[in-house]
Amino acid sequence: MSLKQFIIVSLSLLLSCTVVIPQEQTPLSDRITGYRFDVSLDTEAKTVAGKMDAFWVNKTSDTVSEIRMHLYMNAFRNNLTTFYKESGGSPGRRESDPGWIEVKSFTGNDGFDLLPSMEYISPDDGNRDDRTVIRVMLPEPAMPGDTVAVTVDFETKLPSVIRRTGFADDFFFVGQWFPKFGVYEPSREGEKGRGSWNCHQFHANSEFYADHSVYDVTITLPSEYVTGSGGRLISEKTNGTMKTQVFRAEDIVDFAWTAWPGYQVFTDRWNHVDITLLIPETRINQVERQFSSVKNALEYLGNNVGPYPWTHLTFVDPPSKGAGAGGMEYTTLFTSGSADKIPEFINLPEMVTIHEFGHAYFMGILASNEFEEPWLDEGVNSYWEGRIMDHYYGSRSGMIDHRLIRISDNSILRLSYVKSPLRQIASNREYSWNYPRDSYSMLSYQKAATTLRTLAGIIGEETMNNVFREYYRRWAFRHPSGKDFIEVVNEVVKAEHGDKFGHDMNWFFDQAFYGTGICDYRVSEIVNRRYSGTESMADDDEAEDEDGSRESGSVYTAIAMVDRVGDIMLPVEVLVHFTNGDEDLEYWDGKERYKDFSYTGTRRIEWVKIDPGYKIAMDVNFVNNSLTESPWRVPVRRLANKLLAFIQFTFSLFLF
Ligand SMILES: [Zn+2]
Repeated sequence: MSLKQFIIVSLSLLLSCTVVIPQEQTPLSDRITGYRFDVSLDTEAKTVAGKMDAFWVNKTSDTVSEIRMHLYMNAFRNNLTTFYKESGGSPGRRESDPGWIEVKSFTGNDGFDLLPSMEYISPDDGNRDDRTVIRVMLPEPAMPGDTVAVTVDFETKLPSVIRRTGFADDFFFVGQWFPKFGVYEPSREGEKGRGSWNCHQFHANSEFYADHSVYDVTITLPSEYVTGSGGRLISEKTNGTMKTQVFRAEDIVDFAWTAWPGYQVFTDRWNHVDITLLIPETRINQVERQFSSVKNALEYLGNNVGPYPWTHLTFVDPPSKGAGAGGMEYTTLFTSGSADKIPEFINLPEMVTIHEFGHAYFMGILASNEFEEPWLDEGVNSYWEGRIMDHYYGSRSGMIDHRLIRISDNSILRLSYVKSPLRQIASNREYSWNYPRDSYSMLSYQKAATTLRTLAGIIGEETMNNVFREYYRRWAFRHPSGKDFIEVVNEVVKAEHGDKFGHDMNWFFDQAFYGTGICDYRVSEIVNRRYSGTESMADDDEAEDEDGSRESGSVYTAIAMVDRVGDIMLPVEVLVHFTNGDEDLEYWDGKERYKDFSYTGTRRIEWVKIDPGYKIAMDVNFVNNSLTESPWRVPVRRLANKLLAFIQFTFSLFLF
């Protein structure tokens, strides 16, 4: 679809009273929680204030005596918060623009005042100055099937943009802005009474976890503001200089919204999905790129994982002054990230859009616990991001396609892992905020994505697709854990390949995710020995005639010697190329430290290449994977490595 076909929704249309009655969807989720807001945005005071009616249904067989809620915005209150301390004392916001949330009243079922029984708790670190989690004792325990309904008056002060929320002048991105239920995790079978609230504090390195909910959100703000949210616009009324908009979103895990007078609004459609893009005027030349990348992601994930279940999607490219809000996901709303003069040969807006859209699946539909197992959303999502970028933008040049440098998104993901000095830290032993040093993003994104690409290399891409189809079928709109994902892998691989890879695939995850080893296979030596007599063998070089020619019809023992340098043991293929043009593809289970492939006959080995199909992406050194009698030089790869530092720096400006 050409740019001209995009409908530009004019400001006048937005200002007039529009009423859209959406079709009520059949619930996609259990809707354990739900929220109704009536709030106003004060663009001078930078506050959002109003009333929230929310409910939590006890769908477990536990008797629950308290509720817990996140007050995420308090992470930006002062320099005593856990978020601030974990950020090394410099979280990147201006001191004069803190963010906070005040609960002004809190009533329960039948108007019972719960404010006196509300207290701040710090379940993760005991920091008494952290106010990002509250506990409210219920006057009567919630029995199985009971609904706890609460009404909360609250005021949220937005910080200057930090961690994808806040303001910059007249730009607002309103995320993590309301009191939000934690996830009550019931006792497992045989452990009656041991269920508990999973409600972590806001940490420097972690994202979120929530139940799928329905959101009815009424927002009043100055008329000139253009808004976008994770919901559909149901109605709009203007009243003097102010307007009131009503949004409804169903079965999403978080609701965020944005307002800025400068947004240009474009709409498009892909199959059943209405797509809205909010973008600064200075980037209108990127509208077509943005729409085509989001449609590519919709198509690819729809084909290979499962259908996109909502009928709408809004994405936002924040203006430069609000760039800190870029690269964030709220399921049916996400922010991309770009710059005004991004060149055509750098597919950065495409990559960010594809990544953030992907979270509609890995986090939105498959709502894993991002605090505890971040690889399940960021790593899985980065794996798919790499595949989509390869598929639509080129497996060698998908990220940068310039005559001087070509590099794919997958190569960047892989190099960020293999070049990291922290690459031997085990993933997922700890909750995300306890990851040592600065390993959070490498472990959660790049190492996990590269590991999953390696898994796909071993079991095959079609089996990998079937793993994800089954994962989606079984766990959509629930809370899968890493264990649940691995269980699906084991079952699907067993069904499709029997015992080809062993009884199950735990050996892979135990090494690659939970172990501390690296994977490195190497061709150590090529030997071609010619028989010079019946009893003795001479080295090939010595057996050569003075003019360097070799006797035809000689018999050789040719040996390809390969080593396992790293601790990780994976099955690998070894391609042996002979001087006569023959090629033998050998299979090695990769378990021993050494392996020799010997050939007796007239053939001599010219070169050997381990993993010729590049299936083992997590092999940390591709250079030693091949050996020729005259060693190859790989200047291009060296150049790419040097450029990596530059590329990583560029990307680090964006949060994903
Ligand atoms: Zn992400």
